[in-house]
Amino acid sequence: MARTFQSVCKLCRREGVQLYLKGSRCFTVKCAVKKREYPPGSHVWRRQKISDFGLKLRETQKVKRVYGLSDTQFRKVFAEASRMRGNTGENLLQLLERRLMNVVAVLGFAPSRPAARQMIAHGHVRVNGRRMDIPSYVVRVGDAITVHPRERSQKLAKESLDIGLQARVPSWLQRTDDPPSGKVVAVPGREDVMLPINENLVVEYCSR
Ligand code: SF4
Repeated sequence: MARTFQSVCKLCRREGVQLYLKGSRCFTVKCAVKKREYPPGSHVWRRQKISDFGLKLRETQKVKRVYGLSDTQFRKVFAEASRMRGNTGENLLQLLERRLMNVVAVLGFAPSRPAARQMIAHGHVRVNGRRMDIPSYVVRVGDAITVHPRERSQKLAKESLDIGLQARVPSWLQRTDDPPSGKVVAVPGREDVMLPINENLVVEYCSR
């Protein structure tokens, strides 16, 4: 069932962190977390001091929600990040950033990650000229991301681009607005992650 605006924001308020599930609204003062410091419900208690463990757990939940991963998917991605050379936290973020659902949102073809997931699942997105309806597909350097040439798909992407949420495209991607298309020109670095995430807390939580 599709989530309404309010229920999506309730998720953030329950977690007490911004999960960036509503696209451009999340970056404005209208964000429900910025507006209200207390959790939803009629009994408004002061938020208790959170333990170290709680902080790590919350950051991990945040990463899963932001990038739209189930527990199983997250475990697989984390295991892959651990096997890669280098810093596990940075590897994890790199793999998450390269998921097609994130790439479509970051390119601005969809107003948010959940919207990008839906757009991909409905067949509006192509990778290297072929239909790709798997939101978790991990893009590689050289991949070309385009929108189906039919009018409905083009309109969706252009409307999202017009909102202008992603005015700045990260350096690892290139974008052309008309027709909407993008190319992966590098592997994303830590500085390309636009969201406030403490990956060290996630690694500590998953390695305990
Ligand atoms: Fe709503 Fe976005 Fe703010 Fe979360 S971050 S409360 S989804 S506006």
